[in-house]
Amino acid sequence: MGNVPSAVKHCLSYQQLLREHLWIGDSVAGALDPAQETSQLSGLPEYVKIVEVGPRDGLQNEKVIVPTDIKIEFINQLSQTGLSVIEVTSFVSSRWVPQMADHTEVMKGIHQYPGVRYPVLTPNLQGFHRAVAAGATEISVFGAASESFSKKNINCSIEESMEKFEEVVKSARHMNIPARGYVSCTLGCPYEGNITPQKVTEVSKRLYGMGCYEISLGDTIGVGTPGSMKKMLESVMKEVPPSALAVHCHDTYGQALANILTALQMGINVVDSAVSGLGGCPYAKGASGNVATEDLIYMLNGLGLNTGVNIYKVMEAGDFICKAVNKTTNSKVAQASFNV
Ligand SMILES: [Zn+2]
Repeated sequence: MGNVPSAVKHCLSYQQLLREHLWIGDSVAGALDPAQETSQLSGLPEYVKIVEVGPRDGLQNEKVIVPTDIKIEFINQLSQTGLSVIEVTSFVSSRWVPQMADHTEVMKGIHQYPGVRYPVLTPNLQGFHRAVAAGATEISVFGAASESFSKKNINCSIEESMEKFEEVVKSARHMNIPARGYVSCTLGCPYEGNITPQKVTEVSKRLYGMGCYEISLGDTIGVGTPGSMKKMLESVMKEVPPSALAVHCHDTYGQALANILTALQMGINVVDSAVSGLGGCPYAKGASGNVATEDLIYMLNGLGLNTGVNIYKVMEAGDFICKAVNKTTNSKVAQASFNV
């Protein structure tokens, strides 16, 4: 691309631009010789399921209210990337999260593609019934491993939150609706600092025991390191099988990909991410967004792991939402690719 004027570069399609970049090919593993392939890191799964949380976790933390039709278009674009799970919205009171006030319209407005699941967050029974009425077929509940964070974020103690979630998950099970459980602040809390692996284990075990099929362990403020991730997972995995665990890493301290790689090596094969690294946390000052889906796929491609997701299409969806909310992408891969 050396001597092409930049104005011309912008007219080229992303795919064309990216293809000229040798190192962003679909999978680096294919380019390695067989001897190199066997020297891959050990303990890694062959397939990694990516749970895209941009439309909910990402947009929830955007200050400017994103128009409903933009959200719907964004989700429809993501549905065509090969992602198998896209968290759509949150059926929380609009008093608490104004950005999610249009949850019903979004849920009803999106095109549900075959093979793609569209979970929504449901903090209580009322939200659950609204979600089902709007057509949701999978739900999530959002707990915390920190007492103070629970009080500030969902306005009740951990124990009270678990009682509410029990009602929600029980109702979901009656209707054959799968429920996922989140545990936030697993590697640190903005109010309490360190969180013990025991506390994370306790909450995870409770959510798993009530019937959540998957527990997503969130480093909500992005302070974890591979060291603290390993300790936390070692503890949680004594009570919940790795096949029922996911990791959810924010990149505030630049550790997200290293933390994810650590989790993969320990037998986890479900990772949450948000296109363009959208997000943050309103209760955790300075917390940057989720790990960017583009950056995650780039790493997984480089490891020769299958995700089924097309990185080019994800980058296009990321470009769409960044332009719509007037921000620059937090994805390093997107930044590098668009600035060739
Ligand atoms: Zn998050």
